[in-house]
Amino acid sequence: MLESTKGSQLYSILNQKCPVCQEGDYYINRQAYNLKTFDKSHTHCSYCNHKFEIENGFFFGAMYVSYGLSIAIAVALFMATYVLFPETPYYAYIFIIIIGIVLFTPIAFRLSRIIWMNLFSSYGKREIFNK
Ligand SMILES: [Zn+2]
Repeated sequence: MLESTKGSQLYSILNQKCPVCQEGDYYINRQAYNLKTFDKSHTHCSYCNHKFEIENGFFFGAMYVSYGLSIAIAVALFMATYVLFPETPYYAYIFIIIIGIVLFTPIAFRLSRIIWMNLFSSYGKREIFNK
C-alpha cells in the first residue's frame, strides 16, 4: 500500500510499520476488528530491533492523539448527517456520533499509537535516548 510514499511518516502510519525502518510490523495482527488481538503489538521491530515503547508509559501520550481522532470522526459524522439528512432530530445526532465513535475505537487505538511513535522517531533515525 502506498509504496511511493516510503520514507515518509505517512507510509509508516498507513501501513502500521516501524517508524525507523518501515519494514517491520508494529501490530501482531493486521486486522483492526479482531477484538482479541487488535491491541497486541511487538515490543521490538523484527527488522531493525527498534524498541517501540521507548520509555515506560510512552503510549499514554497516544491518548491525546486518539482523542483528536475521535473528535474528527464526531465532527465528520455530524456534518455528514447534517448534509445528507437535514431533518434529523438532535437526539439522533448524539446516537449516530456515539455509535460511530464506538465502531471507530479499534482503528483510533491503532492509529493513535502509530502516529504517536512517528512524532518521536523518523525514517532511518533513532531517538538519541533509545539504545
Ligand atoms: Zn524497524
